[in-house]
Amino acid sequence: MEFEHKITIIGSTGSIGTQTLEIARTYPGIRVLGLSAHSNIALLERQTREFRPEVVCVVDAQQAAAFKRAVADLPVRVVSGAEGLSEVACAAGAQTVVTAVVGIAGLLPTLDAIRARKNIALANKETLVTAGHIVTRLCAEYGVQLLPVDSEHSAIFQALQGNRQNAIRRILLTASGGPFFGKTKAELAHVTPEQALKHPNWSMGAKVTIDSSTLVNKGLEVIEAKWLFGVDIEQIEVLVHRQSIVHSMVEYADHGVIAQLGTPDMRLPIQYALSWPRRFPMEGNTLDFAQCSKLTFAQPDMETFYALKLAYRAGKEGGLLPCVFNGADEAAVELFLNGKLQFLQIPEAIQCAMEEVPNKQEPSVAEVLEADRAARDCVYRRYGQNFRS
Ligand code: NDP
Ligand code: MG
Repeated sequence: MEFEHKITIIGSTGSIGTQTLEIARTYPGIRVLGLSAHSNIALLERQTREFRPEVVCVVDAQQAAAFKRAVADLPVRVVSGAEGLSEVACAAGAQTVVTAVVGIAGLLPTLDAIRARKNIALANKETLVTAGHIVTRLCAEYGVQLLPVDSEHSAIFQALQGNRQNAIRRILLTASGGPFFGKTKAELAHVTPEQALKHPNWSMGAKVTIDSSTLVNKGLEVIEAKWLFGVDIEQIEVLVHRQSIVHSMVEYADHGVIAQLGTPDMRLPIQYALSWPRRFPMEGNTLDFAQCSKLTFAQPDMETFYALKLAYRAGKEGGLLPCVFNGADEAAVELFLNGKLQFLQIPEAIQCAMEEVPNKQEPSVAEVLEADRAARDCVYRRYGQNFRS
C-alpha cells in the first residue's frame, strides 16, 4: 500500500502513545520523527532504539541529561522542558502530531504545533476544554486539521463523513457508565483508588480512568465535542451504553441517525486519525453481532455523578469555567490517587473551584494558564494540606 505519513508523538510512553506506536509498527509508511516522555525513561529508550526518531523530549532536565548519555550511540537530538515538548510537536518534516500527553500540559505544545502548520491528531482533550476558542481559531487561521482520537469523537467524525456539519440536530455521546454505574452516593462514599481504576471496558491511563468513574471524562468530552463539531452544548446528549459497542451517534436534521460501532479498541480511532480520509485494514477487530445480543441505552444519573452536570454548566457559560473545571479535577484526581481526598470529594472540589475562581469570556492563553493555577490552588488549599504536587 502506498502511504507515507510523518508524525511525532508527545506522550509516547502512555496508553495512547504506545498504541500509536503499535500502529506505526504495522504500517512502516508511518515514520515517527519525534517522541516524548515524562517519567518512563526506560520505555522511551526502547522506543527510541526501535523507531529511530530525530528528536526526543524528556520533560525533566536532569533525566534528559541521563537519557542523552544512554542513547549517545544514536543520531537523536535530546531536548527537555516545556520548550522541548514544543520542539517535538513542531519537528521539521512532520505532517501530524499525536497529542497523547495527559492534562493541560498538552496545551502550549499543541498551540505551537498549529502555528507550525502541523495537523493535530488530538487525544489530549484538555487542550480543547481549556482553550477551545483559541485552538479552533488558530486551526482555521493556519489551515490545520483537528483529527479526533477520543473514541466517541472519532465515531462522530466518522458519522459526519460525507455529510454537512450544519445539518446536525443532535450528537448522542455514549458513555460506558464506568465501574460505579447504578451505585448510590452512600455506596460511593468509601470507594478506593484501586476500585476506581478498574474500568469495565477500556484500559487507559490513570487520570482518564478515574475521570471515567466520576463521569468527569464524559463532561470533558461534551465540551470537547462542542468545539470539534461547532454545536451548542444543548445539542449534545450523553447516553449510558454499558457495552461500549456504539461509540457515538449523530442525529441529522431529518432525524436519520448515523452511528459508528466496533469493539472497544483505541487502535481504530488512532489509526483513523492517521489514515483519514482513507481506511486501512486492522488485525483482530471484528464485531460479532450475534454475540452482542443486547445493546442498551439509558440517561446518566446526573444527581449522583453531578460532575457531569457541572461540566454542562461550564460548557454553557464558557470563558474560563471549563478550564477551572478541568484544573480542579486534575488536582482532585491527584489527591484522590494519593489518598488525600475521598471519591465524592472530587465533584465537590470542582464545584468549589468553579465558585471561587472568577470567570471571564474570551480569555487569553496566559489567563487560561492563570485560571488553571487558581483552580488547582483552590483544591490543594482546601483538601491537600501538606501535599506537594
Ligand atoms: P497516560 O497517563 O497513559 O499517558 C500520558 C503520557 O503523557 C505519558 O507519555 C506520560 O509520560 C506523559 N506525561 C504525563 N504528564 C506529563 C507532563 N506533565 N508533561 C509532559 N508529558 C506528560 O494517559 P493516556 O494515554 O491514557 O491519555 C492521554 C490523553 O489521551 C489524555 O488527555 C486522555 O484524556 C486522552 N484519551 C485517552 C484514552 C485512552 O484510551 N487512554 C481515550 C481517549 C482519550 P510518562 O508515562 O513517561 O510519565
Ligand atoms: Mg472517550
